[in-house]
Amino acid sequence: MREYGIFSEEGGGCIFHPCYSPEEAEAERQRLITVDGEDADDLTVRELCLDHEEQPKDGCEECAEAEEDEDDTEDEEC
Ligand SMILES: [Zn+2]
Repeated sequence: MREYGIFSEEGGGCIFHPCYSPEEAEAERQRLITVDGEDADDLTVRELCLDHEEQPKDGCEECAEAEEDEDDTEDEEC
């Protein structure tokens, strides 16, 4: 299953999710533009990371961090 979200540069990230098809996400994007007056250039539909909410699949910050921390074991500090 794939999930899609709408991302806003101005809004600081994902402003609407989830959608379950690109068509559904695009329809919602159009609604935000026409009804809510959002800037069309600011809103992008992106596929979501399935492991982390509100993160795009391509460029998920949490996945990137997890890869960097691969050597660490799950020990807790403090
Ligand atoms: Zn992720």
